[in-house]
Amino acid sequence: MRKPVEGKNTVVIGSGAGGLSAGILLALLGFHVTVVEKNGEPGGLMRSYSRRGIDCPVGVHYVGALGACEPLGKMFRVLGIDPESLFSRMKNRAVTDRYIFDDFVFDLPEGLDAYEKNLREACRADGAALDALMSGLRETAGVMTASPFFFDGGSPFANMDSFRPMGELLDCLGASPKLRAILAAPCQLVGVALQDCPVIFHQMVLAGYLFSSWRPKSGRRLADAFAARFEALGGRLLLSSAVRHVRTRQGRVTGVDLEKGDFLPADAVVAAVHPKVLIGLLDQDALKTSLRERIAGLEETEGVLAVQAGVDAEAHPAVDYNLYRLRANDRGEIENGFFYQVLRGDGRETNLLSIITLSHYRDWSRWENTVTGRRGEAYEQKKKALAEALVAESSSVFGPLKNLQLLDVFTPLSLRDHVNCPEGSCYGVLRSSRQLLKIASLGKLPIGGLYLAGQNAMAPGLMGCVLGSFGVARKMAGNERFGKELERLL
Ligand SMILES: Cc1cc2nc3c(=O)[nH]c(=O)nc-3n(C[C@H](O)[C@H](O)[C@H](O)COP(=O)(O)OP(=O)(O)OC[C@H]3O[C@@H](n4cnc5c(N)ncnc54)[C@H](O)[C@@H]3O)c2cc1C
Repeated sequence: MRKPVEGKNTVVIGSGAGGLSAGILLALLGFHVTVVEKNGEPGGLMRSYSRRGIDCPVGVHYVGALGACEPLGKMFRVLGIDPESLFSRMKNRAVTDRYIFDDFVFDLPEGLDAYEKNLREACRADGAALDALMSGLRETAGVMTASPFFFDGGSPFANMDSFRPMGELLDCLGASPKLRAILAAPCQLVGVALQDCPVIFHQMVLAGYLFSSWRPKSGRRLADAFAARFEALGGRLLLSSAVRHVRTRQGRVTGVDLEKGDFLPADAVVAAVHPKVLIGLLDQDALKTSLRERIAGLEETEGVLAVQAGVDAEAHPAVDYNLYRLRANDRGEIENGFFYQVLRGDGRETNLLSIITLSHYRDWSRWENTVTGRRGEAYEQKKKALAEALVAESSSVFGPLKNLQLLDVFTPLSLRDHVNCPEGSCYGVLRSSRQLLKIASLGKLPIGGLYLAGQNAMAPGLMGCVLGSFGVARKMAGNERFGKELERLL
């Protein structure tokens, strides 16, 4: 382990993918780091839970680019976490995702060439649009594999054209509704509609999964591996310890107060939590009213309703690709969608069918002021009825489900209470083109020693969170030291 840096006590709030990856990087750089987590177990949304012996994912269902020479794989190497022991590479190279529309099916394969071939076959009239789109996608994929990508986010972030909305680009290219519908599917992974999705986010999420796609073997093991790596580097992990207050003096952070009453002094605080949660932890006058109001007014990504169901393993074998049942209108906009995974269950007679669909927070407003486990019978009835409808809908893809058992259902309120995400937003603040300027201020909070990490710092998903942590570590250590350390670790 490196020698600790004098006077560099850092507290990281939150032990999700963002908090733990930031903790690991800072510990590698010689900071004294304490990660503080409100829940009894680490991992936030990347941690799975168990129902009747079956591992059920919450957030991270599959990730891209974990191969040894690919962006997330390289970042894992720096973190010192072995992807192969924690993830299984999806075996079916011809199909990573199957998009089932009313009138056609599109398979997203591994590899840019295979993807281009499938797109050209599916959208024969879109030749010129595809020339332009594929050239942009290849360029971004190239930047993602170059080393500056980890160092400063790489060149696409410096180019304002990358932030224009996909809708505008597709209008200029005269894209057909069919092509728009296919391109809208990956938007589900960042929670922004295609029309408003900045080109760069679309390209990065798509390119990530085209490099290679991987499923966690178990979200619990994944979270525990991040926590173990952090502790092995000398980091301190405090569980069941919610932060109540971030103290500041003369425009700098001085430490955090825990709900339990302890005070942890700190020279730096990395808030790997939602920015609206962060402003609730600061004194009213710590930020200018205008910034506070801007953050409080940020639009969120939508919540989801998720169903975990046991199904007969023989009748419903595990499917080694993901299924999206999507309904698009005649402009190619997706009006509703369902995500399905059939995963190996208890290793005997039951497999897991996970179903996710969009659910608005406002639809649960009646229970907004209640907490998990104490919402009452009417809430349970509503959840059950919606879950049954989702299961019935899924039979259009899987046929009648044999030996179905409902294992769990979670709503935007469950997620909100679990990880403190306002409105149960899956991917944090909405990274739409129209909101990007407002979001930009999150990257430079005007309080000395205070940084934002996690999915709200740069981008959502495991790759977005880890990339965001590289950005925070670079800011805190300085370019030179960060660069040298990175070179040593790669
Ligand atoms: C349904 C769903 C499906 C998804 N699918 C995928 C996918 O397939 N692939 C992918 O890459 N990503 C996926 N994501 C996104 C991914 O899960 C997230 O981007 C990522 O896990 C977020 O990590 P984070 O560290 O930013 O936040 P979180 O995981 O939310 O961590 C924040 C942590 O902070 C803690 N906390 C909050 N407030 C406090 C406080 N006051 N004091 C102390 N601790 C506090 C919380 O308890 C939590 O543990 C999905 C998300 C959802 C919801």
